[in-house]
Amino acid sequence: MDKPFAITLDPGSSLANKTGSWRTERPVYVDLMPPCNHACPAGEDIQQWLYHAEDGGYEAAWRQIMLDNPLPAIMGRVCYRPCETACNRAQLDTAVGINSVERFLGDEAIRQGWTVPVTAPDTGKSVLIVGAGPSGLSAAYHLRLLGHRVTLRDSGHWAGGMMRFGIPAYRLSRDVLDAEVGRILAMGVTWEGGQPVTDIEQAMADGGFDAAFLAVGAQRGKHADIPAGDSAKILDAVSLLHDMEGPERPQLGRRVAIYGGGNTAMDAARTARRLGATDAVVVYRRTRDRMPAHDIEVEEAADEGVRMMWLSTIARADEGKLTIEKMELDETGFPQPTGEFTELAADTVVLALGQEAELSLLDGVAGIEIEDGVVRVGTDLMTGRRGIFAGGDMVPAERTVTVAIGHGKRAARGIDTWLRGAGIAAGTVAASTGPRLADAGRLNTWYYSDAPATVRPQLDAARRITTFDEVTGGLDEKTALFEARRCMSCGNCFECDNCYGVCPDNAVIKLGPGRRYEIDMDYCKGCGICAAECPCGAIDMLPETT
Ligand SMILES: Cc1cc2nc3c(=O)[nH]c(=O)nc-3n(C[C@H](O)[C@H](O)[C@H](O)COP(=O)(O)OP(=O)(O)OC[C@H]3O[C@@H](n4cnc5c(N)ncnc54)[C@H](O)[C@@H]3O)c2cc1C
Ligand code: SF4
Ligand code: SF4
Ligand code: SF4
Repeated sequence: MDKPFAITLDPGSSLANKTGSWRTERPVYVDLMPPCNHACPAGEDIQQWLYHAEDGGYEAAWRQIMLDNPLPAIMGRVCYRPCETACNRAQLDTAVGINSVERFLGDEAIRQGWTVPVTAPDTGKSVLIVGAGPSGLSAAYHLRLLGHRVTLRDSGHWAGGMMRFGIPAYRLSRDVLDAEVGRILAMGVTWEGGQPVTDIEQAMADGGFDAAFLAVGAQRGKHADIPAGDSAKILDAVSLLHDMEGPERPQLGRRVAIYGGGNTAMDAARTARRLGATDAVVVYRRTRDRMPAHDIEVEEAADEGVRMMWLSTIARADEGKLTIEKMELDETGFPQPTGEFTELAADTVVLALGQEAELSLLDGVAGIEIEDGVVRVGTDLMTGRRGIFAGGDMVPAERTVTVAIGHGKRAARGIDTWLRGAGIAAGTVAASTGPRLADAGRLNTWYYSDAPATVRPQLDAARRITTFDEVTGGLDEKTALFEARRCMSCGNCFECDNCYGVCPDNAVIKLGPGRRYEIDMDYCKGCGICAAECPCGAIDMLPETT
């Protein structure tokens, strides 16, 4: 196949001799797990969809993603891209822009109106999903594909969860969100918006559901006891961002202090700038390197004129001003008060101190265990109450959209097994021993041509603060194709012909496009040149056993 970024060697022309019995090692073709795939919390087979995309097979690439993740256009905007952090190409120049290709494919699917048909026969089993955030939506999608009936119930009138009521429109356009959410709901999901579930056992009994998946997220903003005068204006970031989706824009004033150091704090500060704040200041009690916000979010906020006050806490809030206490880190890195105070002019304080899950729908449910404010689940995501599963922000895990999507898939499979009576008990799915990874050490990177990563277009900072339009643009077809071709196919043969070309004994047999190669052991001397010259590490040399 056509692989423009890898150099191919010509086939050898020597006359080969049959091998005697002295070979000590033999080459074996292997398929290894690329580190990108391994790092994707949604479990995407990234290498496989990049492989389709690099030949212009965009629909096939999109369908490959959709086997694991029903929200690629959204992921291509908000995922924190652990796949790129793990990508081997970073050791050669820069990681493959996996996320930008994913966005291109997701957008292309929306443009073309591609859908995923439900072809599985109806199982007659029905599942209640509580919460229509990414986790609930992902579970609904996968359960429908498995033939189950799905009711998706949410207290809000609009599906999307924190993707709609948390992540601002300048990072995730609402048209894209609506298109991908709408595509899932149109797969025969019964959507019940505006219906909070207050008692899960009751809701299951009333609706005659066979199983439930809970994905209620962590919706409640944490509060801090800040001594405050009567007229101080204090609100929480989650409510602020939620209200951005309402009919009226929140009024914050010109000077806004945001208290906290996570991604939500950055979103609140950048939203405040767009709402007209001339001074948006993030007040954080530690230092930049200890801030939980991702670097990219901090940089983009700074580009938009958001100021940062490190090593600071809000000691008191009064109308129009805050009393700030300077902090210092002790030897364990914990912030300690110094007794030094300054003033900061602020019309509004926005608390961005993290979120917690509201779990009262589980009150009194036998078997449920709640620890540190989240629900304990097994590896199949079943809770201690058989038939009730949970995932996303309400269970112990990293709180990201991609993790939530991965949980939705995992729970759907667990629920399917449970409903088909395959006899799993809560938390008893065996942990796998883990796949063999194609690490960078196996690659011959010099075979790959230089190909610097494509940079996504960005709105300039001055324009950004006057609009809620998306800050980061997408790739066009040419740049998406280029980016897909930067993939080195780590650990899996991409039919470059090198092994076929370098074998001094012509022992490599080419089976034809898509069918790869085999070794003629009558001729192979076990010299290992094929393994040494395979660009992507797809050949192992194993000791002869006889
Ligand atoms: C401001 C902000 C920005 C973020 N940015 C990013 C980002 O860029 N990238 C990223 O990966 N992650 C981001 N996250 C985190 C991400 O949004 C969450 O991890 C993810 O949405 C969790 O998904 P979920 O399905 O578990 O829950 P949620 O998305 O929180 O959805 C839960 C749903 O359950 C509903 N619900 C709650 N209780 C009930 C009930 N009793 N009855 C019925 N319905 C109920 C809610 O209305 C909601 O729709 C951000 C979070 C915030 C707050
Ligand atoms: S969902 Fe995230 S981790 Fe998975 S492929 Fe896309 S960008 Fe990478
Ligand atoms: S080069 Fe390709 S296969 Fe290898 S880690 Fe990066 S994206 Fe994955
Ligand atoms: S096994 Fe390696 S060297 Fe042989 S064709 Fe495949 S990628 Fe090329």
